[in-house]
Amino acid sequence: MASLKPVRGTHDLLPEAMRAHRHVVERSREIAERYGFEEIATPIFEASDVFKRTLGDTSDIVTKEMYTFATKGGEEITLRPENTAGVARAFISEGLAQAVPLKYFYAGPMFRHERPQKGRQRQFHQIGVEIIGVPTPQADIEVIAAGARTLSELGLGDKTSLQLNTLGDPESRTAYREALVTYFTGRIDELSAESRDRLARNPLRILDSKNEGDRVVVADAPAFSDFLNEHSRDFFGQVKDGLDALGISYVLNERLVRGLDYYGHTAFEFTTTELGAQDAVLAGGRYDGLIETMGGPSTPGVGWAAGIERLSMLCGAAPEARRPVALIPIGDEAVARSLPLAEELRASGLRIDLGYSGNLNRRMKRANRLNAAAAVLIGEDELARGAATLRDMDGGDQVEVPLSELTERLSKYL
Ligand code: ATP
Ligand code: MG
Repeated sequence: MASLKPVRGTHDLLPEAMRAHRHVVERSREIAERYGFEEIATPIFEASDVFKRTLGDTSDIVTKEMYTFATKGGEEITLRPENTAGVARAFISEGLAQAVPLKYFYAGPMFRHERPQKGRQRQFHQIGVEIIGVPTPQADIEVIAAGARTLSELGLGDKTSLQLNTLGDPESRTAYREALVTYFTGRIDELSAESRDRLARNPLRILDSKNEGDRVVVADAPAFSDFLNEHSRDFFGQVKDGLDALGISYVLNERLVRGLDYYGHTAFEFTTTELGAQDAVLAGGRYDGLIETMGGPSTPGVGWAAGIERLSMLCGAAPEARRPVALIPIGDEAVARSLPLAEELRASGLRIDLGYSGNLNRRMKRANRLNAAAAVLIGEDELARGAATLRDMDGGDQVEVPLSELTERLSKYL
């Protein structure tokens, strides 16, 4: 064995971490249901083109972060770095165009080859929602509201804030792009090598550069708001009015451009100040061109994705595990009887822990370690009487209970 460590950037989710993870998924799934999103799952890998052709040649994901392999069968596949492209692919290949509008929720692992650090893994997990087939701002508003509610019901309302921007329609973007190229070309000597590279291919991305020199130049760059045509301005106005009407507060951020090529109109990000450099928690926007770019019928879409690891870090302590009832047989006969009894109790919905060996003392220790709510002790004498001793682990009271009544007497521990 070369190495028995998890591969760099990947993590085992041991039970406590898994509970925190599940808490996020289960809460958000339930909230998504209330908004009418149905859950779907697409494959964890896709043909590489699904991502390459859609995310954009200059996106960080395509240029640096994809896990791409040639399979033994000679196909080129990529572990999904995000799920919107997979959903769009499914929309096309499953022939769902007649079924719009569609509302989807998903949860699952994503893979990006980036430098691991706090809140940044190579295998991480996302929850997300998509509305497909709705061209009007109502969908943007509803999607953002679902994100805001997910955060607030996870208890993160005060720890996050919404940044909002518009990337306009294609005409506005072209106009702005030209203005940016003119501006940045005039100050090209001050730009980082990466930004110079982006200048030709995707000048908008320069706006979110983290490089300090770039930021100085960016500070005086033309503002997108001056290049929005009437339609784009009106669309954005409706999104803002809708959020205002719902009491969802936001900060306008003209530098929020999102990393992927397929976004237009609404772009948003819920950020936090509590995770250091990894400040984005939930992010998304409108992607009206995506499905068409992939070769499908022109179909608008809007959605978001959120990192489960970042959310569960913000949530803090994992919820407690459900408390079991410990079944503690003493003596061979009781041990033999305990397995069918455990089955019977489990069939009634109780969570039963049956230690596998050890004397009374050891088994009680295990019951305590598992934070058992109650213990059912079965000794030889009790068994002869067809009874067991039921001990409440919090109060310590102990009573003898006929085995025939055990299920009922335990129902308060369900
Ligand atoms: P960042 O700026 O942090 O790289 P991003 O813009 O690449 O984020 P998105 O593609 O918008 O992120 O993904 C949505 C969310 O998924 C992020 O807000 C974040 O919570 C989470 N996320 C993205 N990449 C990672 C990662 N490598 N590890 C953990 N979570 C991640
Ligand atoms: Mg990233």
